[in-house]
Amino acid sequence: MGSLALSRADVLDQPAPSIPDEVARIAREQLAPLAAGIDDGSVYPAEVLRKFGAVGAFGNHVPHEGSADLRCAIQAMAAVGEVCGSTAFMKWCQDTLVWYAANSTNAKLAKRFGDAFSTGRVLGGTGLSNPMKSFFGIEKLKLKGRKVEGGYIVRGVLPWVSNLGPDHYFGTIFEREDEPGLVMFLADCSDPAITLTPCKPFLAMDGTGTYGVQFRDVFVPDDLILADPAGPFVKKIRAGFILLQAGMALGLIKDCISIMDEVDNPLGHINRYLPQQPVHFRDLAAELDAETMALARDPYNEEDAYWRKVIALRLRAGDASVAAAHAAMLHCGARGYLKSHRAQRRLREAYFVAIVTPATKQLRKMLAES
Ligand SMILES: Cc1cc2nc3c(=O)[nH]c(=O)nc-3n(C[C@H](O)[C@H](O)[C@H](O)COP(=O)(O)OP(=O)(O)OC[C@H]3O[C@@H](n4cnc5c(N)ncnc54)[C@H](O)[C@@H]3O)c2cc1C
Repeated sequence: MGSLALSRADVLDQPAPSIPDEVARIAREQLAPLAAGIDDGSVYPAEVLRKFGAVGAFGNHVPHEGSADLRCAIQAMAAVGEVCGSTAFMKWCQDTLVWYAANSTNAKLAKRFGDAFSTGRVLGGTGLSNPMKSFFGIEKLKLKGRKVEGGYIVRGVLPWVSNLGPDHYFGTIFEREDEPGLVMFLADCSDPAITLTPCKPFLAMDGTGTYGVQFRDVFVPDDLILADPAGPFVKKIRAGFILLQAGMALGLIKDCISIMDEVDNPLGHINRYLPQQPVHFRDLAAELDAETMALARDPYNEEDAYWRKVIALRLRAGDASVAAAHAAMLHCGARGYLKSHRAQRRLREAYFVAIVTPATKQLRKMLAES
């Protein structure tokens, strides 16, 4: 055999690819060709999401012995976000669903859904925007529930919930109408009393399986209750919920830097007059990445100072996404103004990072009041 053949020892010496590396490979090979279709709403990439699940992309942040580490989940989300912001968001949706089931003290629920969610065999998301806004006095809770034998009856409408389909699940919260209290539960989209209504076309994110969800006196059995009462549970999972979103921003910013680099050769002579250069965003991305990784090791930290850092990081991540995408547009000029160029898609996706709950305005309110 020629000298190029690898010996068994050589093969054993190769480090196993990390989960983010595997996710990046799948994103490059299988997600990139779908990104335009996902953006225009003609594709919902269930199969690719399941492939991410199969290499462990949704399972690494599951807590062990009372602690959890979100770093790998965020890095994997960033690898997806470098290619497609919509799919990075769907990864976040799935990650939150895993996070809810893994933190629930309902042992039956955790046993039934834990692996199914973390392997991506069952897909879904989160309907916590309305509750998160209600906790900070921005709007009233939209779902109402009352206790009955073996569970609750729930009614109401959530205007937008993503990564859904007929056999999907998502975590959300209702307010009890029979007595004071909030309950967090898993909604089963296959329940005939739950209706998914397609949303009007968005600026971006149309391939994210986003629907208006109507609950028509849905019976939610005790087996689907994540936390009753919901308050202490939300306090436990909220930093993770927010921190995980950083993955969307980190991936998007990295691609915006690549876009600026790609046009440096033909346009660098004139682009150097622009105030914001790739090097600025490289520094900013490195700072955000370091801060995210530091906070992501400790998502159960209960200190107020930690919570403020999480909110401030999330705010910076939204601002930086919009700034990087804006700079990428200016660097590209007319090339980026073409519908076929991804610069304009990145700009539309960046605004989503800034408006998805907790939105920039909510984060500013939270910081002002903390
Ligand atoms: C593409 C997309 C996907 C989303 N996915 C999810 C998800 O998976 N889970 C989730 O919980 N939330 C989801 N949301 C909601 C999102 O997180 C924010 O809550 C939402 O964008 C509004 O946030 P805001 O802070 O700007 O609210 P504000 O603008 O301050 O207030 C929004 C409120 O205004 C009203 N409103 C304004 N315009 C409309 C309209 N066109 N139709 C209906 N009501 C309107 C509603 O009462 C709504 O609650 C999604 C939103 C979008 C655009």
